[in-house]
Amino acid sequence: MAQTVQGETGVWEMVIGLEVHAQITAKSKLFSGAATQFGAEPNSQVSLVDAAMPGMLPVINEYCVEQSVRTGLGLNAQINNFSVFERKNYFYPDLPQGYQISQFEHPIVGKGEIEVDLPDGSVKVIGITRLHMEQDAGKSMHDQHPTKSYVDLNRSGCALMEIVSEPDIRGADEATAYINKLRMILRYLGTCDGNMDEGSMRADVNLSMRRPGEEMGTRCEIKNVNSVKAVQQAIAYEADRQVEILENGGEIVQETRLWDPVKNETRSMRSKEEAHDYRYFPDPDLLPLEIANDWIEDIRKTLPELPDEKKHRFIEDYKLSAYDAGVLIAEHARAHYFETVTKGRDTKLAANWVINELLGRLNKDNTPLESSPVSAEHLGELVGLIEDKTISGRIAKDVFDIMIESGKDPATIVEEQGLKQVTDTGAIEGIIDEVLAENADKVEQYKAGKDKLFGFFVGQVMKKSQGKANPAAVNELLKTKLS
Ligand code: ADP
Ligand code: MG
Repeated sequence: MAQTVQGETGVWEMVIGLEVHAQITAKSKLFSGAATQFGAEPNSQVSLVDAAMPGMLPVINEYCVEQSVRTGLGLNAQINNFSVFERKNYFYPDLPQGYQISQFEHPIVGKGEIEVDLPDGSVKVIGITRLHMEQDAGKSMHDQHPTKSYVDLNRSGCALMEIVSEPDIRGADEATAYINKLRMILRYLGTCDGNMDEGSMRADVNLSMRRPGEEMGTRCEIKNVNSVKAVQQAIAYEADRQVEILENGGEIVQETRLWDPVKNETRSMRSKEEAHDYRYFPDPDLLPLEIANDWIEDIRKTLPELPDEKKHRFIEDYKLSAYDAGVLIAEHARAHYFETVTKGRDTKLAANWVINELLGRLNKDNTPLESSPVSAEHLGELVGLIEDKTISGRIAKDVFDIMIESGKDPATIVEEQGLKQVTDTGAIEGIIDEVLAENADKVEQYKAGKDKLFGFFVGQVMKKSQGKANPAAVNELLKTKLS
């Protein structure tokens, strides 16, 4: 997809920075003990702190801090030993405190970077500016009653990480790759489930246009962009809108715009002049957060193997293509499944079976890997049966179908259905003789030079053996017989 826009007067380049809000995976909220489960009955997970009752005091959830540090480490970022919670003041019906506790001047995580994989196979480094912790707001519900709005405070006080990127992103493709990679890292780390449908990950898109090589122009910030598709559409729309203004001699006004997913357009929400003055100041109820290097190092030791390392290892150790390795490491569970299948077996054959047969089939059936009717152990056994020539690749596909249906192990299926490959040359020779006798005319034609008939004989022999004859042996023996 284009990173540039061809206008009437020449080429324009996109400059994009993303602010991603990621809900921290934790059983309780950032400053209260209330539960965080998604989809609970409205207002059933609200403590007195979350409802901002007078006199309530926030108490920091140590696990949320640990999760933020873990995320920072996963983003190759600077972890700050000193950070400060501040009050960001604004009024909104879903914000009972009248302010959001956030971090501003002193975030817990500073500069970092991630490598993103672009569609053309290249890798680009995108800078991370910072990561800070903050509370989520509640949710106004305008569609529950004809004349009233309701408020659900379940989300109020849930812990968020706001992850801000440098303006290093140059188009919708790169933005997509960035979000996908960030989500993959968070999921590997177990610090955010990355579920955009449930709002656990939300993005604000900052975009400006410039002539290639020139300074950055004035940007607009687009809010409410809650799916990867919306990010792509919002970027395309906004880039065109800005180019049109610039080409007609106009100027971009720095403003906050809202993405409307129904009309597929961005709309002005507020300009810089109307921008909120949040009157940030350190929250007097909370001490500055001081974290020791020892603790950071303890957390570092618990980090899992991250996607990049895993991909390199899969390419190195299993001799897989970068593409296959990329598919297999996309999900932690998927990589684990593959490693179980391939243990002690041919890695390329195993990768092929996991990617093309298993994932292809699950995808078609809309089944997540976690509920696969075929366990990794069973698929591994199937690969083993192909490798030791008990069955051919062709028969294996039939066995696999039965495994999907029945959940049985492949050896049992091969046994029950009598699918063992015939490698006994005597038996195969017998079948070949029958086929040649039944097709004496074709044998004549073949001998007279019609080479193409060889395939026909192979086909007949395979058919007569119900697919069980070893194809290599059939080829070999047929050649001898016909020469
Ligand atoms: P704010 O505090 O107003 O949100 P920040 O300086 O934190 O502003 O920037 C927010 C996001 O905007 C960052 O992701 C940053 O990379 C991006 N950004 C900054 N300047 C530009 C620009 N001129 N064009 C596009 N994106 C920009
Ligand atoms: Mg911002």
